[in-house]
Amino acid sequence: MPLSIDEGEFLYKEAPFEELMFVASKLRQLHNPGNGVGWMIDRNVNITNICFSQCTFCNFCRKKDSSDAYITTTEEYINKIDELYELGGDQLLLQGGMNPDLGLDFYTGLFRMLKEKYPSLKLHALGPPEIVYLAKKEKTTFRDILSHLIEAGLDSLPGAGAEILSGRVRKIVSPAKASSEEWLEVMRVAHRLNLPTSATMMYGHIETVRERMEHLTRLRDLQEERPENHFGFITFVPWPFRDEGTVLKEKHGIRSSYNGSDYLRLIAISRIMLTNIRNIQASVLTVGKEIGMLSLHCGANDLGSVMIEENVVSAAGPSNRFNPDELQSVIREAGFVPVRRNQKYEPFDPPTPLP
Ligand code: SF4
Repeated sequence: MPLSIDEGEFLYKEAPFEELMFVASKLRQLHNPGNGVGWMIDRNVNITNICFSQCTFCNFCRKKDSSDAYITTTEEYINKIDELYELGGDQLLLQGGMNPDLGLDFYTGLFRMLKEKYPSLKLHALGPPEIVYLAKKEKTTFRDILSHLIEAGLDSLPGAGAEILSGRVRKIVSPAKASSEEWLEVMRVAHRLNLPTSATMMYGHIETVRERMEHLTRLRDLQEERPENHFGFITFVPWPFRDEGTVLKEKHGIRSSYNGSDYLRLIAISRIMLTNIRNIQASVLTVGKEIGMLSLHCGANDLGSVMIEENVVSAAGPSNRFNPDELQSVIREAGFVPVRRNQKYEPFDPPTPLP
């Protein structure tokens, strides 16, 4: 029987850490038996940094008339993807901002162009806020937008923009972005279309522990609705708010509440609460090597990717970069076996040698 919000909140606040760790590790073994820990190579490219949303935690977005506003050019994509292939990766994480000048035709044209040039490229692109924005702009449904994007080459939908699925929180951190209900509805439609998706949480700002637990139960409830044998949420990835230079810190005095032990409790509770999401991914990019290693003993079974380029998270604080050898060493040092995986969290079979 999955834990209720009350039970999750109680355990989060009161349970001894070693007990959370023990239970989460047992559950991790039920979902993912053995000693393997997933990792992959991918590259994040931002389509544009122009974004009308101006979320108060975001230090990356620019207004259209900013001197450093950009839209990535075809030549830049080609250079970046060539570099990705040279390093042995095949997944491109394409993310916003939400540029009011760019409509559905722009995105379908971009995806088609990339897939024509690189047929084996996997596009993990956009996120529910962009789908909501495009549906409003084109005056059509989420299903219609997603169907066009899938036809153009979208392989999976990141859970970007979930932050905390709470109206109270979103009014302060991302008032112009998709609501919680819209975020969930886009994911519901994506699951019906059998598009693989991920679930996320950006925490450590103004939310309460209870709101974190509500967030987890909303994800779990939606996952329960997915049609049989459909992907649904493949993974859950929480990451902490980084405050450097953000409006949330500068204007509202909100500092990141991140600390390593709280992160580990969150990883463990996520594994315990999310009974129907198989993979829990720790974000070594934001929490670093030591906490990343410990998270593997608290229910996480994946350390994410060797992210060749990342701009949104690192715009608000330092990031921890690892090359493929270093990331595998981190996994081994923690007592596990690195398993290079694809975007669907399946091991490469046979293992693909790196160049
Ligand atoms: S977090 Fe994303 S949606 Fe929000 S302002 Fe930044 S780029 Fe735009």
